[in-house]
Amino acid sequence: MAQNASKKNFVGIDLGGTNIKVGVLNDAGETLTRLSIPTLVEKGADDATKRMAEAVDAAIKDAGLTPDDVARVGLGSPGTLDLPSGMLIRPSNLPGWNFFPIRDRLAEYSGLPVTFAHDGPAAAFAEYWVGAGKGEQGLIVLTLGTGVGCGIVLDGHVWNGIHSHGGESGHNIIDTSENARLCKCGQRGHLEAYASATGVTNRTIEYIEAEFKSSLSERVKARERNDQVPKMVFEEAENGDELAIQIVKETARYLSYGIVSLIHTLDPSCILLGGAMTFGGDSTKTGRMFLELVKQETCSRIFLYLAERLRFDYATLGNDAGYIGAAGLARQEWEEEQAAEESQV
Ligand SMILES: [Zn+2]
Repeated sequence: MAQNASKKNFVGIDLGGTNIKVGVLNDAGETLTRLSIPTLVEKGADDATKRMAEAVDAAIKDAGLTPDDVARVGLGSPGTLDLPSGMLIRPSNLPGWNFFPIRDRLAEYSGLPVTFAHDGPAAAFAEYWVGAGKGEQGLIVLTLGTGVGCGIVLDGHVWNGIHSHGGESGHNIIDTSENARLCKCGQRGHLEAYASATGVTNRTIEYIEAEFKSSLSERVKARERNDQVPKMVFEEAENGDELAIQIVKETARYLSYGIVSLIHTLDPSCILLGGAMTFGGDSTKTGRMFLELVKQETCSRIFLYLAERLRFDYATLGNDAGYIGAAGLARQEWEEEQAAEESQV
């Protein structure tokens, strides 16, 4: 490794449909500063990339650094994308940003080299670098939000696949029936249609419309928006409502179907759950029950030898995982470049 490694800092960017988060990190993965700007999708990709470059500049100044102190920028973006060419393809959260050369455009506007990453794998890499998956040789991170994101880190490297679609495991089939739930990708029976916040919302509304007796009924009927429903399920489960607890249990079972396929394909050492839709996560009774149920439901369906050895836990970096992982992947690419240069000397 180069001698000046400890002086190198990295910028990580998490490009989302609503906000763009930018963080400046040191070589140890500590966040020195972070900021957020609105994505303003409707203004188009080029406008956002210009503002992203300005935000990178502002964040570097905030951290008390200059661009010379920054080795690389990492940009984590939602799919679909093409990593080798640095292009967005048809990102579903960024309508209209199709076939945009975002990596090279950001490098041009920021004056810094850019590492391009897929957001799910970037979040997983963050957990591997400085989070709950630190040092795990085979790590799978499932991020439960509006969709089900997935990232796979094997032997210290994210697996992006040949066509930059590796880890699209939210679209694994868990229901083969003809009338299986429709996924937002247009296909039926995908994990995401059952175990995401959207899946939980749809299943809950169906129970309430079928007049199941529950403390959820009035609240769900009086909702202003559908995205309020998963929180209602969490709160009523905390209060002991039977239907709400049943919905949490079913979500764990659906999720386990997806995880079983991943385990039997990749044989990982650790499964982490992250994202906003974890029923409160580690700090609540329902969240801890959810994790335990995911573990039980999964372990009852895999080889005993694996069930005895696998670790299940919650991710710890929350909303920061995206930019931290992007910075971590920039750092990894920089280290590999340094190593290649040194071996040529
Ligand atoms: Zn799908």
